[in-house]
Amino acid sequence: MLKRWGLFALLGSSLLLGACQQESASNTAATADAAQPDTTKVYNWKMVTTWPPNFPIFQQGVEKFAKDVEAMSNGRLKVQVFAGGELVPPLQTFDAVSQGTVQMGHGAAYYWAGKVPAAQFMTAVPFGMTAKGMNSWFYQGGGLELWREMYEPFNVVPYPAGNSGVQMAGWFNKKIESIDDLKGLKMRIPGLGGKVLAKAGGTPVLLAGGEIYTALERGTIDATEWVGPFHDERLGLYRAAQYYYYPGWHEPGTVLELIVNKEALAELPEDLQKIVEIGAQALNQWMYSKFEGLNIQSLRELAAKPNVEVMPLPETVLAELRRLTDITLNEEAEKDPKFKKVYEAFKAFKADHQAWTDISDGAYYDLLKAE
Ligand code: CA
Repeated sequence: MLKRWGLFALLGSSLLLGACQQESASNTAATADAAQPDTTKVYNWKMVTTWPPNFPIFQQGVEKFAKDVEAMSNGRLKVQVFAGGELVPPLQTFDAVSQGTVQMGHGAAYYWAGKVPAAQFMTAVPFGMTAKGMNSWFYQGGGLELWREMYEPFNVVPYPAGNSGVQMAGWFNKKIESIDDLKGLKMRIPGLGGKVLAKAGGTPVLLAGGEIYTALERGTIDATEWVGPFHDERLGLYRAAQYYYYPGWHEPGTVLELIVNKEALAELPEDLQKIVEIGAQALNQWMYSKFEGLNIQSLRELAAKPNVEVMPLPETVLAELRRLTDITLNEEAEKDPKFKKVYEAFKAFKADHQAWTDISDGAYYDLLKAE
């Protein structure tokens, strides 16, 4: 009971008080109103992810989410988590949730770009927003409503549930001094970033995480991006390439998603629905904080390796990539009205957010740097 009261205080919810009143009323009248949710029922859910088993931060965060949800619901919502391939192949996560094979999934919206091109805005857009901007857009600027609308035809409800922070531009086995150095470059870089590289004359290559190291080491690819210092170090990419470039212009704040089958969600009593929502918000913050915290030490270790040079992409290269990004996004918008709609909303919020960021975080970080 103490645990329950802790939860009441946490959620500040009158729903739960309503549930208590209902319980005492049904005790005396011995009748159950069919319209009232059953607050004693235990829901056993399954959740699939796009991540390998034990994948640090990503899969670990999802497992933590499942434990949190079970604790917050006092054992009424149990979520059994399956890593990619354990129940369904990683890239069938969306379909499995959509069809109700499982109730929940975790992955990244840009994996579903083949189905919903505009979903890419909900994960990573080259020269888009960082975690701070993405979260503001979702929770305050209408982004989450657009995301819900986008997944509605698939019977899927999305929640932002993780952010990698600004990624690194990647590992290159030659120096990049001008945009011409990208011509003919074979690079593992997915999504819109890959399309931009192609515009610069490079060849984007699609490879799963487990294939990257060997491809780079054997020279099948000349460069690769992965995530950030923590995951890049674990993959051993510093043993296969020397130049480690920043910033991750192509993935400035990659968002991860929790997706829930719409009917399954509707079957939950309101307090459990709220636990899912708040659990996703907690996961969103937890993952971002883990990335930020763990990248510090890994970057230090990578920078200390004698064969590794950590350096910024030249401003001229970034300016050209930015110009090519605008061309790419406009071309994609011409192909798909839904992409266009989300692009316009994203662009408008990003511009407003940037004006504020310039004189808030931007100005403040400049100040610290100058010290
Ligand atoms: Ca990446």
